[in-house]
Amino acid sequence: MKLILLGAPGAGKGTVAKLLTELDGSVQISTGDILRGAVQAGSDLGKQAEAFMNAGDLVPDELIMGIMEKRLQEPDCAKGFLLDGFPRTIPQAEQLKTLLEKINIKLDMAVNIDVPKDVILDRLSTRRTCSNGDCQAIYNVKSNPPKQEGKCDKCGSPVIQREDETKEAISHRLKTYDEKTAPLIGFYDKENMLLTVSATSSDDVINAIKGKLAS
Ligand SMILES: [Zn+2]
Repeated sequence: MKLILLGAPGAGKGTVAKLLTELDGSVQISTGDILRGAVQAGSDLGKQAEAFMNAGDLVPDELIMGIMEKRLQEPDCAKGFLLDGFPRTIPQAEQLKTLLEKINIKLDMAVNIDVPKDVILDRLSTRRTCSNGDCQAIYNVKSNPPKQEGKCDKCGSPVIQREDETKEAISHRLKTYDEKTAPLIGFYDKENMLLTVSATSSDDVINAIKGKLAS
């Protein structure tokens, strides 16, 4: 399957993507991953991107599109791909549309995983992460607490709340997401490609996608 995944931080895009890749061998593609991949490979585009990243600047869309064009034509994408966190803006969505037409790839749909804000807030603010950088095990004070409070089961290091997972930080991230991504939902709706799934369970999201693909 060839999908774009849209959804706020904490909506469960990562979990859904993982389940979908297990279904049919599609690969999950995020902008960060492909930029790092291009830099590591030392390609011309990778070197150009690296210069922007080293300077602390955003990598321009043109460059991202060039790297995306190569990435989407690699053999592992033949079974399908799930774009996660890309496109981010309307200009990127428009350029992606042009690119896909050029390389003759047809997307199945853009999936908008719509989870109520209070659920996301609860999910993320109850998350705890092992402070040991080599471990980074993830816990949840409600659904999956460490056996001994505040201590990692795997390595014994302190388990902490990440700075970007406090209630204030999450609210800010959600607001930023709303401002940037609401227009994308409209964009794919107009293209007749949008599937909005209002569900808090990853299995429900998967089933909705399967149902749409089969229709
Ligand atoms: Zn640990």
